[in-house]
Amino acid sequence: MRVLGIETSCDETACAVVTDAADPSRRILSHSLFSQMREHAPYGGVVPEIASRAHIEHLDGLVAEALAEAGLELADLDAIAATAGPGLIGGVMVGLMTAKALAYASGKPLIAVNHLEGHALSVRISDDVPFPYLLLLVSGGHCQFLIVEGVGRYQRLGTTIDDAAGEAFDKTAKLLGLGYPGGPAIERIAKQGDAARFSLPLPLKGKPGCDFSFSGLKTAVRLALESCGPSPSERDKADLAASFQQTVMAVILDRARNAIALFDAAHGAAGKHFVVAGGVAANATLRAGLVDLAADHGMRFTAPPMKLCTDNGAMIAWAGLERFRLGMIDDLEAPARARWPLDTLAAPKPYAGV
Ligand code: ATP
Ligand code: MG
Ligand code: FE
Repeated sequence: MRVLGIETSCDETACAVVTDAADPSRRILSHSLFSQMREHAPYGGVVPEIASRAHIEHLDGLVAEALAEAGLELADLDAIAATAGPGLIGGVMVGLMTAKALAYASGKPLIAVNHLEGHALSVRISDDVPFPYLLLLVSGGHCQFLIVEGVGRYQRLGTTIDDAAGEAFDKTAKLLGLGYPGGPAIERIAKQGDAARFSLPLPLKGKPGCDFSFSGLKTAVRLALESCGPSPSERDKADLAASFQQTVMAVILDRARNAIALFDAAHGAAGKHFVVAGGVAANATLRAGLVDLAADHGMRFTAPPMKLCTDNGAMIAWAGLERFRLGMIDDLEAPARARWPLDTLAAPKPYAGV
Protein backbone atom coordinates (compact mmCIF):
# COMPACT_ATOMS: atom_id res chain seq x y z
CA MET A 1 0.00 0.00 0.00
CA ARG A 2 1.39 3.42 -0.99
CA VAL A 3 -0.02 6.76 0.04
CA LEU A 4 1.03 10.26 -0.99
CA GLY A 5 0.68 12.90 1.73
CA ILE A 6 0.58 16.69 1.43
CA GLU A 7 1.13 19.13 4.30
CA THR A 8 0.53 22.87 3.92
CA SER A 9 -1.13 23.97 7.17
CA CYS A 10 1.56 26.37 8.34
CA ASP A 11 4.95 27.38 6.98
CA GLU A 12 6.31 24.10 5.67
CA THR A 13 5.31 22.89 2.21
CA ALA A 14 5.82 19.15 2.47
CA CYS A 15 5.08 16.03 0.54
CA ALA A 16 5.94 12.34 1.07
CA VAL A 17 5.10 8.83 -0.04
CA VAL A 18 4.83 6.11 2.63
CA THR A 19 4.04 2.40 2.62
CA ASP A 20 3.00 -0.05 5.31
CA ALA A 21 6.16 -2.19 5.00
CA ALA A 22 6.66 -4.48 8.01
CA ASP A 23 10.11 -2.97 8.59
CA PRO A 24 9.64 0.57 10.02
CA SER A 25 12.91 1.75 8.46
CA ARG A 26 11.47 1.13 4.97
CA ARG A 27 8.16 2.92 5.40
CA ILE A 28 9.11 6.37 4.10
CA LEU A 29 9.73 6.03 0.35
CA SER A 30 10.32 9.73 -0.21
CA HIS A 31 10.17 12.93 1.73
CA SER A 32 10.29 16.42 0.21
CA LEU A 33 10.06 19.59 2.23
CA PHE A 34 10.38 23.28 1.55
CA SER A 35 10.68 25.31 4.71
CA GLN A 36 9.46 28.89 4.29
CA MET A 37 11.42 29.97 7.34
CA ARG A 38 13.48 32.53 5.41
CA GLU A 39 10.37 34.10 3.91
CA HIS A 40 8.80 34.68 7.33
CA ALA A 41 11.94 35.38 9.40
CA PRO A 42 11.97 39.16 8.72
CA TYR A 43 8.47 39.41 10.28
CA GLY A 44 9.27 37.37 13.42
CA GLY A 45 6.44 34.94 12.74
CA VAL A 46 4.38 33.30 10.01
CA VAL A 47 2.55 35.73 7.68
CA PRO A 48 -0.51 33.82 6.38
CA GLU A 49 -0.69 35.47 2.96
CA ILE A 50 3.02 34.90 2.28
CA ALA A 51 2.60 31.28 3.41
CA SER A 52 -0.33 30.59 1.04
CA ARG A 53 1.53 32.04 -1.93
CA ALA A 54 4.70 30.10 -1.16
CA HIS A 55 2.68 26.85 -0.90
CA ILE A 56 1.20 27.52 -4.35
CA GLU A 57 4.65 28.18 -5.79
CA HIS A 58 6.33 25.09 -4.38
CA LEU A 59 3.74 22.35 -4.00
CA ASP A 60 3.54 21.03 -7.59
CA GLY A 61 7.33 20.70 -7.75
CA LEU A 62 7.45 18.90 -4.41
CA VAL A 63 4.74 16.42 -5.45
CA ALA A 64 6.68 15.62 -8.63
CA GLU A 65 9.88 15.31 -6.60
CA ALA A 66 8.31 13.00 -3.99
CA LEU A 67 6.89 10.71 -6.69
CA ALA A 68 10.18 10.65 -8.63
CA GLU A 69 12.22 9.92 -5.52
CA ALA A 70 9.89 7.02 -4.69
CA GLY A 71 10.19 5.82 -8.30
CA LEU A 72 6.42 5.97 -8.70
CA GLU A 73 3.78 7.45 -10.98
CA LEU A 74 0.48 8.82 -9.74
CA ALA A 75 -1.19 5.63 -11.02
CA ASP A 76 0.94 3.49 -8.66
CA LEU A 77 -0.53 5.11 -5.54
CA ASP A 78 -3.38 3.63 -3.51
CA ALA A 79 -4.60 6.90 -2.03
CA ILE A 80 -3.86 10.61 -1.74
CA ALA A 81 -3.91 12.29 1.65
CA ALA A 82 -3.70 15.96 2.56
CA THR A 83 -4.03 18.08 5.68
CA ALA A 84 -7.59 19.43 5.75
CA GLY A 85 -7.08 21.42 8.98
CA PRO A 86 -6.56 22.80 11.52
CA GLY A 87 -4.20 25.50 10.34
CA LEU A 88 -3.90 28.70 8.34
CA ILE A 89 -6.91 28.39 6.07
CA GLY A 90 -5.22 29.70 2.89
CA GLY A 91 -2.43 27.15 3.14
CA VAL A 92 -4.77 24.30 4.05
CA MET A 93 -6.88 25.11 0.96
CA VAL A 94 -3.85 25.03 -1.34
CA GLY A 95 -2.82 21.55 -0.16
CA LEU A 96 -6.32 20.10 0.03
CA MET A 97 -7.35 21.44 -3.41
CA THR A 98 -4.16 20.07 -4.94
CA ALA A 99 -4.87 16.67 -3.39
CA LYS A 100 -8.46 16.76 -4.64
CA ALA A 101 -7.30 17.59 -8.17
CA LEU A 102 -4.77 14.72 -8.09
CA ALA A 103 -7.39 12.33 -6.66
CA TYR A 104 -9.97 13.35 -9.26
CA ALA A 105 -7.52 13.12 -12.16
CA SER A 106 -6.16 9.72 -11.10
CA GLY A 107 -9.37 8.19 -9.75
CA LYS A 108 -7.63 7.48 -6.41
CA PRO A 109 -9.39 7.92 -3.08
CA LEU A 110 -8.85 11.13 -1.10
CA ILE A 111 -8.15 11.16 2.61
CA ALA A 112 -8.69 14.46 4.41
CA VAL A 113 -6.31 14.29 7.36
CA ASN A 114 -6.50 16.22 10.60
CA HIS A 115 -3.01 17.72 11.05
CA LEU A 116 -3.07 16.86 14.75
CA GLU A 117 -3.86 13.25 13.95
CA GLY A 118 -0.76 13.38 11.73
CA HIS A 119 1.32 14.41 14.76
CA ALA A 120 -0.50 11.93 17.03
CA LEU A 121 0.18 8.91 14.82
CA SER A 122 3.65 9.97 13.61
CA VAL A 123 5.34 7.78 16.22
CA ARG A 124 3.81 4.70 14.58
CA ILE A 125 5.88 5.27 11.42
CA SER A 126 9.12 4.56 13.23
CA ASP A 127 7.89 2.26 16.04
CA ASP A 128 5.02 -0.20 16.19
CA VAL A 129 3.50 1.47 19.25
CA PRO A 130 0.21 -0.29 20.13
CA PHE A 131 -3.02 1.49 21.14
CA PRO A 132 -3.93 2.81 23.64
CA TYR A 133 -1.09 5.19 24.43
CA LEU A 134 -0.76 8.43 26.32
CA LEU A 135 0.20 11.31 24.05
CA LEU A 136 1.65 14.69 24.89
CA LEU A 137 1.14 16.82 21.80
CA VAL A 138 3.33 19.90 22.05
CA SER A 139 3.54 22.06 18.96
CA GLY A 140 3.38 25.63 17.72
CA GLY A 141 -0.38 25.85 18.11
CA HIS A 142 -1.25 23.10 20.60
CA CYS A 143 -0.32 21.74 23.99
CA GLN A 144 -2.47 18.86 25.16
CA PHE A 145 -2.61 15.40 26.67
CA LEU A 146 -4.64 12.83 24.80
CA ILE A 147 -5.40 9.17 25.16
CA VAL A 148 -4.93 7.73 21.70
CA GLU A 149 -7.38 4.83 21.71
CA GLY A 150 -7.16 4.12 18.00
CA VAL A 151 -7.19 5.79 14.60
CA GLY A 152 -9.77 8.58 14.80
CA ARG A 153 -10.39 7.88 18.50
CA TYR A 154 -8.92 10.47 20.83
CA GLN A 155 -9.82 11.45 24.34
CA ARG A 156 -8.46 14.81 25.44
CA LEU A 157 -7.38 14.91 29.08
CA GLY A 158 -6.19 18.50 29.25
CA THR A 159 -5.13 21.39 27.07
CA THR A 160 -3.71 24.88 27.28
CA ILE A 161 -6.03 27.59 28.48
CA ASP A 162 -4.01 30.26 26.66
CA ASP A 163 -0.76 29.88 24.68
CA ALA A 164 0.74 26.67 23.30
CA ALA A 165 4.21 25.61 24.47
CA GLY A 166 5.77 26.20 21.04
CA GLU A 167 4.15 29.63 20.94
CA ALA A 168 5.74 30.40 24.34
CA PHE A 169 9.13 29.37 22.94
CA ASP A 170 8.59 31.52 19.84
CA LYS A 171 7.44 34.58 21.83
CA THR A 172 10.29 34.26 24.32
CA ALA A 173 12.78 33.97 21.47
CA LYS A 174 11.33 37.11 19.91
CA LEU A 175 11.73 38.99 23.22
CA LEU A 176 15.34 37.82 23.39
CA GLY A 177 15.95 38.92 19.80
CA LEU A 178 16.65 35.36 18.66
CA GLY A 179 14.43 35.32 15.60
CA TYR A 180 11.99 32.75 14.28
CA PRO A 181 11.42 29.86 14.90
CA GLY A 182 12.19 30.22 18.57
CA GLY A 183 12.38 26.68 19.91
CA PRO A 184 15.67 25.58 18.35
CA ALA A 185 17.27 29.02 19.02
CA ILE A 186 16.33 28.95 22.72
CA GLU A 187 17.54 25.38 23.08
CA ARG A 188 20.87 26.32 21.48
CA ILE A 189 21.69 29.32 23.70
CA ALA A 190 20.23 27.71 26.84
CA LYS A 191 23.13 25.24 26.72
CA GLN A 192 25.45 28.07 27.78
CA GLY A 193 23.03 29.52 30.34
CA ASP A 194 22.50 29.19 34.08
CA ALA A 195 18.94 27.94 34.58
CA ALA A 196 19.03 28.81 38.29
CA ARG A 197 19.62 32.54 37.74
CA PHE A 198 16.02 33.65 37.14
CA SER A 199 13.15 32.29 39.15
CA LEU A 200 10.09 32.25 36.90
CA PRO A 201 6.52 31.34 37.92
CA LEU A 202 5.29 27.79 37.34
CA PRO A 203 1.73 28.29 36.02
CA LEU A 204 -0.83 25.79 37.36
CA LYS A 205 1.90 23.73 39.06
CA GLY A 206 0.42 21.50 41.75
CA LYS A 207 -3.16 22.15 40.57
CA PRO A 208 -5.34 19.14 39.79
CA GLY A 209 -5.93 18.08 36.19
CA CYS A 210 -3.55 18.46 33.30
CA ASP A 211 -4.37 21.77 31.65
CA PHE A 212 -1.58 24.21 30.82
CA SER A 213 -1.13 27.95 30.91
CA PHE A 214 1.87 29.75 29.45
CA SER A 215 0.86 33.38 29.01
CA GLY A 216 1.93 34.43 32.53
CA LEU A 217 5.32 32.90 31.92
CA LYS A 218 5.78 35.04 28.82
CA THR A 219 5.09 38.18 30.87
CA ALA A 220 7.52 37.03 33.57
CA VAL A 221 10.23 36.57 30.93
CA ARG A 222 9.63 40.11 29.68
CA LEU A 223 9.90 41.53 33.21
CA ALA A 224 13.06 39.50 33.91
CA LEU A 225 14.61 40.79 30.71
CA GLU A 226 13.72 44.37 31.60
CA SER A 227 15.39 43.86 34.98
CA CYS A 228 18.68 43.33 33.11
CA GLY A 229 18.70 46.97 31.95
CA PRO A 230 18.37 48.59 28.52
CA SER A 231 20.89 46.35 26.75
CA PRO A 232 20.95 42.80 28.16
CA SER A 233 24.21 40.91 27.61
CA GLU A 234 24.58 37.58 25.82
CA ARG A 235 25.06 36.06 29.27
CA ASP A 236 21.74 37.55 30.48
CA LYS A 237 19.96 36.16 27.44
CA ALA A 238 21.49 32.70 27.76
CA ASP A 239 20.59 32.55 31.47
CA LEU A 240 17.04 33.66 30.76
CA ALA A 241 16.66 31.16 27.92
CA ALA A 242 17.90 28.37 30.22
CA SER A 243 15.59 29.46 33.06
CA PHE A 244 12.65 29.64 30.66
CA GLN A 245 13.33 26.22 29.17
CA GLN A 246 13.70 24.63 32.58
CA THR A 247 10.45 26.24 33.78
CA VAL A 248 8.50 24.99 30.76
CA MET A 249 9.90 21.56 31.40
CA ALA A 250 8.98 21.65 35.09
CA VAL A 251 5.41 22.68 34.22
CA ILE A 252 5.08 19.96 31.59
CA LEU A 253 6.44 17.30 33.97
CA ASP A 254 4.08 18.42 36.74
CA ARG A 255 1.08 18.23 34.38
CA ALA A 256 2.32 14.93 32.94
CA ARG A 257 2.17 13.29 36.40
CA ASN A 258 -1.55 14.04 36.56
CA ALA A 259 -2.07 12.91 32.97
CA ILE A 260 -0.38 9.59 33.76
CA ALA A 261 -2.68 9.14 36.76
CA LEU A 262 -5.74 9.70 34.53
CA PHE A 263 -4.37 7.32 31.90
CA ASP A 264 -3.60 4.78 34.61
CA ALA A 265 -7.18 4.90 35.87
CA ALA A 266 -8.51 4.32 32.35
CA HIS A 267 -6.09 1.73 30.96
CA GLY A 268 -3.38 0.90 33.50
CA ALA A 269 -0.13 2.79 32.84
CA ALA A 270 2.43 0.05 33.49
CA GLY A 271 3.91 -1.34 30.30
CA LYS A 272 2.02 1.17 28.10
CA HIS A 273 3.66 3.84 25.97
CA PHE A 274 4.08 7.52 26.79
CA VAL A 275 4.48 9.30 23.47
CA VAL A 276 5.48 12.89 22.78
CA ALA A 277 4.88 14.50 19.39
CA GLY A 278 4.82 17.91 17.71
CA GLY A 279 7.61 20.43 17.12
CA VAL A 280 8.50 21.01 20.79
CA ALA A 281 9.12 17.25 21.11
CA ALA A 282 12.38 17.97 19.26
CA ASN A 283 13.66 19.59 22.49
CA ALA A 284 16.31 17.34 24.03
CA THR A 285 15.89 18.67 27.61
CA LEU A 286 12.17 17.99 27.50
CA ARG A 287 12.70 14.50 26.10
CA ALA A 288 15.21 13.68 28.82
CA GLY A 289 12.79 14.77 31.55
CA LEU A 290 9.96 12.74 30.06
CA VAL A 291 12.12 9.63 29.66
CA ASP A 292 12.74 9.61 33.43
CA LEU A 293 9.15 10.39 34.33
CA ALA A 294 7.80 7.60 32.11
CA ALA A 295 10.30 5.14 33.60
CA ASP A 296 9.22 6.11 37.13
CA HIS A 297 5.68 4.98 36.22
CA GLY A 298 6.73 1.82 34.42
CA MET A 299 5.78 3.34 31.05
CA ARG A 300 7.81 3.13 27.86
CA PHE A 301 8.79 6.52 26.49
CA THR A 302 8.69 6.78 22.70
CA ALA A 303 9.10 9.77 20.41
CA PRO A 304 9.29 10.06 16.66
CA PRO A 305 12.71 10.92 15.17
CA MET A 306 13.43 14.68 15.14
CA LYS A 307 12.54 15.19 11.48
CA LEU A 308 9.08 13.72 12.11
CA CYS A 309 8.42 15.96 15.13
CA THR A 310 8.06 19.25 13.26
CA ASP A 311 5.63 19.50 10.36
CA ASN A 312 6.31 17.08 7.54
CA GLY A 313 4.53 15.23 4.73
CA ALA A 314 5.29 11.71 5.98
CA MET A 315 3.06 12.07 9.04
CA ILE A 316 0.14 13.16 6.86
CA ALA A 317 0.74 10.35 4.37
CA TRP A 318 0.97 7.91 7.31
CA ALA A 319 -2.24 9.10 8.99
CA GLY A 320 -3.84 8.77 5.55
CA LEU A 321 -2.50 5.24 5.25
CA GLU A 322 -3.77 4.23 8.68
CA ARG A 323 -7.22 5.62 7.82
CA PHE A 324 -7.24 4.02 4.36
CA ARG A 325 -6.40 0.62 5.88
CA LEU A 326 -9.58 0.93 7.94
CA GLY A 327 -11.66 2.02 4.97
CA MET A 328 -11.91 5.63 6.12
CA ILE A 329 -11.91 7.73 2.97
CA ASP A 330 -13.40 11.13 2.20
CA ASP A 331 -15.28 12.54 -0.73
CA LEU A 332 -14.17 15.47 -2.87
CA GLU A 333 -16.46 17.79 -0.92
CA ALA A 334 -14.28 17.46 2.22
CA PRO A 335 -13.94 20.99 3.64
CA ALA A 336 -10.76 22.84 4.64
CA ARG A 337 -11.03 23.84 8.31
CA ALA A 338 -9.16 26.48 10.28
CA ARG A 339 -10.24 24.83 13.55
CA TRP A 340 -10.75 21.11 13.98
CA PRO A 341 -10.27 19.64 17.49
CA LEU A 342 -8.92 16.11 17.50
CA ASP A 343 -11.48 14.72 19.91
CA THR A 344 -14.32 15.60 17.53
CA LEU A 345 -13.10 13.53 14.58
CA ALA A 346 -16.03 11.93 12.79
CA ALA A 347 -16.62 8.25 13.31
CA PRO A 348 -15.19 6.15 10.48
CA LYS A 349 -17.42 5.87 7.43
CA PRO A 350 -17.59 2.42 5.84
CA TYR A 351 -15.56 2.16 2.64
CA ALA A 352 -18.03 2.06 -0.22
CA GLY A 353 -15.45 1.68 -3.00
CA VAL A 354 -14.17 4.37 -5.35
P1 ATP B 1 0.35 22.89 15.13
O1 ATP B 1 0.90 21.55 14.82
O2 ATP B 1 -0.11 23.02 16.54
O3 ATP B 1 -0.65 23.34 14.14
P2 ATP B 1 2.81 23.91 14.05
O4 ATP B 1 2.51 22.92 12.99
O5 ATP B 1 3.25 25.25 13.67
O6 ATP B 1 1.56 23.96 15.03
P3 ATP B 1 5.05 22.30 14.64
O7 ATP B 1 5.63 22.51 13.29
O8 ATP B 1 4.64 20.95 15.01
O9 ATP B 1 3.89 23.32 15.00
O10 ATP B 1 6.11 22.82 15.69
C1 ATP B 1 6.67 24.10 15.56
C2 ATP B 1 6.93 24.60 16.96
O11 ATP B 1 7.92 23.76 17.59
C3 ATP B 1 7.47 26.01 16.99
O12 ATP B 1 6.76 26.73 17.97
C4 ATP B 1 8.93 25.82 17.37
O13 ATP B 1 9.47 26.91 18.09
C5 ATP B 1 8.86 24.58 18.23
N1 ATP B 1 10.15 23.88 18.29
C6 ATP B 1 10.85 23.34 17.26
N2 ATP B 1 12.03 22.84 17.68
C7 ATP B 1 12.07 23.04 19.03
C8 ATP B 1 13.03 22.78 20.06
N3 ATP B 1 14.17 22.19 19.78
N4 ATP B 1 12.72 23.15 21.33
C9 ATP B 1 11.54 23.75 21.61
N5 ATP B 1 10.61 24.06 20.69
C10 ATP B 1 10.86 23.71 19.42
MG1 MG C 1 6.01 24.74 11.33
FE1 FE D 1 2.22 20.86 13.35
